Amino acid sequence: MNTIAPATIAPTGIIHTPNGDYETIIGVEVHVQLNTTTKLFCGDTLSFGDAPNDHTCPICLGYPGVLPVLNQQAVEKAVTLGLALGCTIATVCKFDRKHYFYPDLPKAYQISQFDEPLCSNGTLTLANGRVVGIQRAHLEEDAGKLNHVGAEGLAGSLYSLVDLNRAGTPLLEVVSHPDLRSGEECKEYMATLRNLVRCLNVCDGNLEEGSMRCDANVSVRKVGATQYGTRAEVKNMNSLRSIQRAVEYEAQRQVDLVESGGKVVQETRLWNDATGTTISMRGKEAANDYRYFPEPDLPPLRLSVTWLEDMKANLPELPKQRYERYTQTIGLPDFEANLLTENQELGDYFDAALALTADNKALHKPIANWLVGDITAWLNTEKLSLTDTKLTPSLLVELVTLLEAQTIGSAVAKQLLPELLTDGASPKALVDSRGLGQINDTSALEALVAQVLAANPAEVEAYKGGKTKLMGFFVGQVMKATQGKANAATMTELLQKKLAE
Ligand SMILES: [Zn+2]
Repeated sequence: MNTIAPATIAPTGIIHTPNGDYETIIGVEVHVQLNTTTKLFCGDTLSFGDAPNDHTCPICLGYPGVLPVLNQQAVEKAVTLGLALGCTIATVCKFDRKHYFYPDLPKAYQISQFDEPLCSNGTLTLANGRVVGIQRAHLEEDAGKLNHVGAEGLAGSLYSLVDLNRAGTPLLEVVSHPDLRSGEECKEYMATLRNLVRCLNVCDGNLEEGSMRCDANVSVRKVGATQYGTRAEVKNMNSLRSIQRAVEYEAQRQVDLVESGGKVVQETRLWNDATGTTISMRGKEAANDYRYFPEPDLPPLRLSVTWLEDMKANLPELPKQRYERYTQTIGLPDFEANLLTENQELGDYFDAALALTADNKALHKPIANWLVGDITAWLNTEKLSLTDTKLTPSLLVELVTLLEAQTIGSAVAKQLLPELLTDGASPKALVDSRGLGQINDTSALEALVAQVLAANPAEVEAYKGGKTKLMGFFVGQVMKATQGKANAATMTELLQKKLAE
C-alpha cells in the first residue's frame, strides 16, 4: 500500500514531499501547421473539415514512382518563423525519411529533417521575461487522420476510417530546450508562440483544430540535482489549459511514483482531458528506430544569403515590438497594450486608425479605449469579430473626433455604437440628422439642472442630508431630459454648485 503523503504542487513547478522538494523540467515540441495554400510536396490545397480524402493525389497518397516537389511558400513561412525566433537559418539543408508504420501514413515514412534542421539556436521570450531556448525548428509533412468509429477513442472502437486530407500538410516542428519549469510556464510558452505565428501569418494558431500541437517532455528531479530524470512525453493537449493541467498532472504522477519506490520509464503518454490524467500509449522510440536516411527524391534545399537578408529585413513587427510601441510611443497602459497585442485583428485595426490620425495624437488613447472597451464588449456579446462589423477604422476615428471636440457626449456615442457596428453609418451624419449634438451651453444646462432639482425636492433634501450618492440620480435625470446630450462634465459641475447652495 502506498503510505506516502500526497505531494503538493506549487505554481513554480516545485513539488513538496516529506522527503524533499522536486522541480519539474519540461521541454516542448510544437508542430506548427503552416497556413500555405497547398501541401508541402504536392499541389493539393489545405483544408479543415472538408469531406474525407477530397484533398489527395498520388503524391500524398504515397503511390509508388511519384516525386515530391518542395513548396516554396512553406519554406518562406518556415524561414519567417525561424527568423522571428532569432534562429540561425541553414543556407543548405537536406530532407530525410523517417520510417514508421501507421495507417495514416501511406508511404510508411514521413519526409522530415533529421540532422540538418532548417532553423536552429533561437529563443522565445515569455511575458515574465524568461528566455526559453529554441534548439531547432525543422520542416516536415503531417500525417493523415484516423477516425475511430463505434466508441470513444481507439479503445473499443469497431473500426477506423482513414482520412488523408491532412497528409502532406507542411509542419514546422519547433523544439525547445528543457528550459520550462512549470505547467503555467508551458501554457505561457504556447500562448506566446501562438501570438507570434498569428502575427507573422504563418499559422492560424487554433489549438482546438490541431493547427498547433504540443508534445511536452516532462521529467522531475530533486531540487539541486544536476542530472535530468527520465522523461515521459505527453501528447494530446488541445487547449492552453489542458497543456498546463497535463504537465502538472504528469509531474505529480512521476514524483508520486519515485517517492513510492517506482521508476519513471521513457514512454509516450496520452492526456485525457475528461479524466484529467495521462495514460501510457507506447514505449518511446529512439531515433535509430526510425532508420532515418536522406530523402533521395529531393535535392538539398539551398537558400541564397541575399534572399535571407531580404526576408529578415521584411519581417513584420513582432508582438514584443508592437507592445513596446503601444506602451512607450503611444503611452497606453499595460492592460490595453496587451489586449491590442494579443488580438492581432484588434491591433491591426488600431494601427489602421492610428495611420488616419497621425497628426492628432490626442485621439490615440480614446481610440484604444473604445476598441478594448465598448467595442470588444459588443463583439463578445454578439459573438462576432471586427471583420464582421461595418465600423471601419475611419468611422471610429470620426466618432472619437466628435467626442474629443465635445460635439457629442459619451452617452450619445454609446447609444450610436451598435448602429455604427451593424450599419456602417457615418456618426457625423447621424448626429446632424438626429440633432444629437452635445448641449455645451452653460445657461441652457443651468435651466435644465434647475428644472430637475425642482421636480425632485425629496431627493434634493436627502442629498443635502448626506446621501451624496444621489448625484448619479440627478445626472441621470438631466441626461434623460436631454436624451443623453448634456455635456456631462459641465452639468455635473452645475449640479454640485446648485446643490451646495
Ligand atoms: Zn496530394
